[in-house]
Amino acid sequence: MNNLAINGGTPIRDSMLPYSRQSIDDKDIAAVVDVLKSDWLTTGPKVDEFEKAFAGAVDAKYAIAVSSGTAALHCAMYALNVGPGDEVIVPVMTFAASANCILYQGATPVFVDVEPDTLLINIKEVEAKITERTKAIIAVDYAGQPCDYNELQSISDLYGVPIIADACHALGGKYHGKFYWGQPVGSLADLNVFSLHPVKHITTGEGGIITTDNHHFAERMRIFRNHGIPSSHATRKSWFYEMVDLGYNYRLTDIQCVLGISQLRESQFKYWVERRRNIAATYDKSLLEIDAISPLINKAIGPNKATGHAYHLYVVQLDLDKLIWPSHFGRFAIYDALRAEGIGVNVHYIPVHLHPYYRAKLGTRIGLAPVAEAAYERILSLPIFPTMTNQDISDVVQALQKVLGADMR
Ligand SMILES: *Cc1c(COP(=O)(O)O)cnc(C)c1O
Repeated sequence: MNNLAINGGTPIRDSMLPYSRQSIDDKDIAAVVDVLKSDWLTTGPKVDEFEKAFAGAVDAKYAIAVSSGTAALHCAMYALNVGPGDEVIVPVMTFAASANCILYQGATPVFVDVEPDTLLINIKEVEAKITERTKAIIAVDYAGQPCDYNELQSISDLYGVPIIADACHALGGKYHGKFYWGQPVGSLADLNVFSLHPVKHITTGEGGIITTDNHHFAERMRIFRNHGIPSSHATRKSWFYEMVDLGYNYRLTDIQCVLGISQLRESQFKYWVERRRNIAATYDKSLLEIDAISPLINKAIGPNKATGHAYHLYVVQLDLDKLIWPSHFGRFAIYDALRAEGIGVNVHYIPVHLHPYYRAKLGTRIGLAPVAEAAYERILSLPIFPTMTNQDISDVVQALQKVLGADMR
């Protein structure tokens, strides 16, 4: 009937192409080994050095390194004094951590839907859901495309509600903002949160970092990541310390920070992001020929059209009606068929409000965010990472042609 690997045919690839993968070279390894031989394994000189390098890379005044992107989100909530009785607005099309951080502080997530062509936060709905209790807005730069921070800023100014950018997907992206040629992601919101997990743009193994221009926020987060103690072991001159608030151990180690420094060296990540953009451009062109697929839209304008999107993910929406497949074969079947061909596609994300925990905790239901819910049935993330070869890209396109063109009746 057809020669799909899932039906016993020969797969396009022998080994699975992952959707993302870290880039580690010998200099990274040597840098980590040096720290292992030094006096400092955890908080030492590399933390400060990494924070300065990261802040510099994104044009922010301060950067605070922590143990994960999730810890970074929690720190941001703490910096803004979010607590019980407060509401924080967050889009549903994101990783659960974007909303979980609100619950960590005892506050209530208020979910909003996304735009159909970008899956970025629906800003009209944000405005409609602001109340006297709204303490913050979390905007997610989904797939690596910055949200419309001009629009968000005017809402922020109008209602006095600060913006947190969950920029975990968007390191290396730009937004036209105040300047036509663009401002880097990391300098766009009151607090900007990044993850340093291996699938993200740069990695420290696990890790996260928050950037801000606000000295007060920076100080609060430094205390929060260290048990609520205002000084670190490294800088303390005596045994004396005081715990001034309930904090956590969210510290990032020197071993990890030196890897972060090495990953930022010579602006390496800028070349990696450029490669991601090249891969995306190749996909854009090749996928035009596949009827049943539409990529998400890059909304950046002016010179930022080329530099706005950081392409952590390359997400396509399937037009299931255009397939010669029985209607009960949904996206799951296509996902399985592509994986069988050796293409590590993925799905980002199950809308947060549909997770059993949130349904039970907040009583959220289907219908709360119709755009995200409909998109969820149709989205696939294609492999994209800097060391992917042109052959890898063409394998993906070939597998899509093979699977989507198959007659499955
Ligand atoms: C990766 C990610 C996080 C969490 O980061 P961790 O480092 O895994 O804790 C949060 N939000 C978004 C959008 C992410 O992609």
